[in-house]
Amino acid sequence: MSRAGLYGPWPRLLPLDVAKRSIAVARDIGARIGSDNCLSYTLTGAKGSQSSIRPPLSGLARGYAGLALACGHFDRCFPRECWDEPAHDHLERSIRIIEVQKSSTLGLFGGLCGVAFTAQYLNHRKRYTQLIRSLDALIYKTIPEVLEEYAYDKSHASSEFDLVSGLTGIGVYLLMRKQNENSRTLLKTVLRVLIDQTNLGNFPLGWHTSPESVEGRSLRQMFPDGCVNLGLAHGIPGPLALMAISKQNGVTPRGMNAAMQRLGDWLISCQCSDEWGINWPVAVPVSRSPLSPHQNCRTTPSRGAWCYGAPGIARTLWLLGRAMCCSTYCDCSLAALKAVYSRPYRARQLNSPMFCHGLAGVLQITVRTARDAGLQTLKDSVLELTNRILHAYDRTSVYGFRSEGHGPAADDPSVLEGVAGTALALMSAAVPIEPTWDRLFLIS
Ligand SMILES: [Zn+2]
Repeated sequence: MSRAGLYGPWPRLLPLDVAKRSIAVARDIGARIGSDNCLSYTLTGAKGSQSSIRPPLSGLARGYAGLALACGHFDRCFPRECWDEPAHDHLERSIRIIEVQKSSTLGLFGGLCGVAFTAQYLNHRKRYTQLIRSLDALIYKTIPEVLEEYAYDKSHASSEFDLVSGLTGIGVYLLMRKQNENSRTLLKTVLRVLIDQTNLGNFPLGWHTSPESVEGRSLRQMFPDGCVNLGLAHGIPGPLALMAISKQNGVTPRGMNAAMQRLGDWLISCQCSDEWGINWPVAVPVSRSPLSPHQNCRTTPSRGAWCYGAPGIARTLWLLGRAMCCSTYCDCSLAALKAVYSRPYRARQLNSPMFCHGLAGVLQITVRTARDAGLQTLKDSVLELTNRILHAYDRTSVYGFRSEGHGPAADDPSVLEGVAGTALALMSAAVPIEPTWDRLFLIS
C-alpha cells in the first residue's frame, strides 16, 4: 500500500521548488529537536545567545510529548528514516516527568490527555497499546471527578472548559479514542455539559468568565467586569469546533445541533469589521443586568492568529458549516479568511513564525481550508505564508527559528510557541501525507 493510501490522499499544495525548500528546513528543525545534544545544550544554557531559552516540559504543547508528536509525524512522512527512535525517546522523557511528579492534570496541552494523544498518534506501529491502556485507565478514572467539580461550580474560568486545559481539550482526546466504548460514553457526557451550558435561557452568560477568573493581565485590564472569550484556544470557538468535529464523526448527543447553531450565530453577531472586512475582538464584555448580549462590544479587532482572532474563528465556522451543511457559516468563514489575507502584513500583527499566535498557525488553517474549499486564492495564500516563514529561517540560531513575541526572542523547541509547530505546518503543504496531528488545535 502506498503511503498516501495508508493515511488518505493529501495533495501537495506548493510548487515543487518551494515544497522542497519547506521539507529541507523542516528536516533541519527535526534533526535539531530530535537530537539529545541539542536539547541538553539548551537545558544547560546556550552561551552567547541573545535570546531566552525555553527548555521543554512534559506536555504536548510545550514539552517532550509535543517533540515526540513532531518526530512521529516525520516518521509517517519518511518511514525509512528512523524518526520513530527520537519520537520514542521524547515520549519516554514525557512519561518519566509525569511519574516523578506523581500527579498530573488532565488538560490536553499540558496534562495526561496530551501525552495520551501523542501515544495514540505514534501507535501506528502498535508499539504503545499497553501505554495507552494505562493512560486511559487514569484518564477514565479522573474525568468523573473533574465533571463533578465542574457541575458544583456556579461560574467557570475559561481554563475549565477551553481547549488548552479544560473540558474541550479532554473531549478532543476522547474523540480520538472514539472506537473505545468508555471514551465514546465519556465524550457524550462532556459534550452534554457543553450543550447544557449553551442552551441555558440566559445565554451567553453560561460562558461568562468572572473578573477574578479572567486569565492574563491584559485581558483583565480590558475587561474589568469579566468577559466571554472569543479565542479558539480559550473561548467559545473551542467547544463549538469540538461539537462540529464530533458531529462529523457520528457523535451527536441530543440538543447539540441547536447548541451549535446558537453558538455559531452568536459568534457571527460578535464580529467587528475593519477596512479589510470581517474581524473579531479577543473577547466581549457581557453585562449581567440587564441581560443584553455583548452590549458595548469592543470594536478593537484581535490580531489574526490561531489562538485569537479571525483565522481560528473562521476555521471553526467552516467546520460548523460543513457539519450542519449550512453555507452561511462557510461563506462567513471564507469572507473572514479573505479579509485576513487582504490586510497588509503589519496590520495582521503576526511577527513570529510559530504556531499559537504566529504564521505557522495561520498557514495550517489556510492549508486545511484551501484543501476543503478548493479555492486558488487560498492556495496562493498558502504560498505567501510559507515564503514568509521560510524567510524567517535562521540556520545560525539554536533551532532554526526564533520565537518573537512581546518579550525577547526565544529559542523554543516546542509545538505551541516553538519550532516543532513551525516544522509541522511547513510539512503540511509540502508532503502528501495528511497532517492529522492538527486535531489537537481543533483545525480538523
Ligand atoms: Zn497564542
